[in-house]
Amino acid sequence: MLNIILLGPPGAGKGKQAARLQAERGMIQLSTGDMLREAVAAGTPVGRKAKAVMERGELVSDAIVSALIGERLDASADKGAIFDGCPRTKHQAAALEILLAQRGRRLDHVIELVVDEDELVRRIVGRFTCAKCGAPYHDHFRLPAVPGVCDVCGSTEFKRRPDDNEETVRTRMAEYRAKTAPILPYCEDKGLVRRVDGMASVDEVAGQIDAILDGKA
Ligand code: ADP
Repeated sequence: MLNIILLGPPGAGKGKQAARLQAERGMIQLSTGDMLREAVAAGTPVGRKAKAVMERGELVSDAIVSALIGERLDASADKGAIFDGCPRTKHQAAALEILLAQRGRRLDHVIELVVDEDELVRRIVGRFTCAKCGAPYHDHFRLPAVPGVCDVCGSTEFKRRPDDNEETVRTRMAEYRAKTAPILPYCEDKGLVRRVDGMASVDEVAGQIDAILDGKA
């Protein structure tokens, strides 16, 4: 049972790979971004605090994030966890280690998706999803076959994340560089960091991650 962190800037493909690992290996995806978006949509006290911070592209407080992770961690006890979008600060990294250790668990790998930031901005700013089934689309790379109609479910409603505009994306990148990237040397000292080429195709990235998890790379 493996516990892994996927680390990389916004839009690097962490969510996509985490969802695949959950589907293929039965591991549990723990995405703080998804948890926070759910809290915002449900209008919970956490959601009300987080909403404006997220819309600016800044980081939500470590205390909120650590509490969210703590609540969900036990569900992944026998299956292993994929932390996607967390930890995002050194403080969160230390808190996560403690939460795991308290449960007799440990981190096995920190997988860094290495990417080109300008390309990422293009990827993120164009992305949107079907409002009904969540199928992913992109203004440049993947439009529905029939304009305005979802290929998968036929819905004509689509949505974009409110933080996927260029200005907010630049702030998210800056937050990553200033606060999240410094986690890497800390994990490197523990011998946990593995790098994959995040600019490769989704299948190639998947192959590189699988090789690490299977001890073949
Ligand atoms: P992305 O990686 O594409 O930026 P996420 O869905 O992981 O998207 O996060 C969206 C937003 O949610 C972040 O910009 C931040 O405001 C907030 N957020 C998510 N996870 C964390 C975290 N671990 N710590 C602080 N803020 C977070």
